Amino acid sequence: MERGWLSANNIVFVGRDQAAVVDTGYVTHSDQTLALIEATLAGRPLDLILNTHLHSDHCGGNAALQARYPGVETRIPPGEASLVETWDEDGLSFRTTGQNCPRFRFDALLQAGHEVVLGDIPWEVHAAPGHDPHSIILWEPRSRTLISADALWENGFGVVFPELSGEPSFDEVAATLDVIEALHPLRVIPGHGAVFDEVAGALRSARSRLEGFARDPAKHAWHAVKVLVKFKLLEVQSMSNEEWQSWVQQTPYLETIRARFFPASTLEDLSAQALAALVKTGAASATAERIQNR
Ligand SMILES: [Zn+2]
Repeated sequence: MERGWLSANNIVFVGRDQAAVVDTGYVTHSDQTLALIEATLAGRPLDLILNTHLHSDHCGGNAALQARYPGVETRIPPGEASLVETWDEDGLSFRTTGQNCPRFRFDALLQAGHEVVLGDIPWEVHAAPGHDPHSIILWEPRSRTLISADALWENGFGVVFPELSGEPSFDEVAATLDVIEALHPLRVIPGHGAVFDEVAGALRSARSRLEGFARDPAKHAWHAVKVLVKFKLLEVQSMSNEEWQSWVQQTPYLETIRARFFPASTLEDLSAQALAALVKTGAASATAERIQNR
């Protein structure tokens, strides 16, 4: 189910004796996620939730689905399992990015090198660090279909978050693109945007984007600031200037990025410049009172 950019796509599998969903969208869309999944399952219960990684736009519907389907089993990649267990909001990315995700439980882990049966067919679990160090992707070798999460989109890939806090990760993004290329997918179901078959072209454009970022990490950091602001605008659609200022102050990632990449700038200036850049490209509008998504 292709969703808007605030929510990751949901991939729903209906097998003989099991129904599953990969990734569950952002919390503010969870009513829509429930309705879409209920309609697809036509009265059957959901048996399995998988998350490719634990960003708020990929696991924000977990809690609502667990409440709706109490018997559902939830499997997550291993890297952040202990943080989920104790619901460590500082360790998980939600608070630092100024995003929201209601608490959910998990029952099992999605280990790279293992398989998981989805729609009666075994899918391989592969590690895909880069955008997120703990992300996995799912591969079905017979149809050569890849569920790529945010490691590869038709036009690019997700922000390389570890780089922003000083963990070099562009090489991991490149290595994950190599893993994807070696699989030779015929079709990719990305975390965001439409399913695509032009995989070679997508890999080419991802690599050239990555080279630009690796040459100039500040360019990537600036892109990340704009992505964080745009994500918030997609979520709230409209906010007062006071709400905007308080979101900027309460989103530690912005300060992390400023301190590392733009130390000559203040947080106010950096966020105002990002907003101005979004207004200039038509992705936002701003008046003296309100800021709006476009
Ligand atoms: Zn992500």
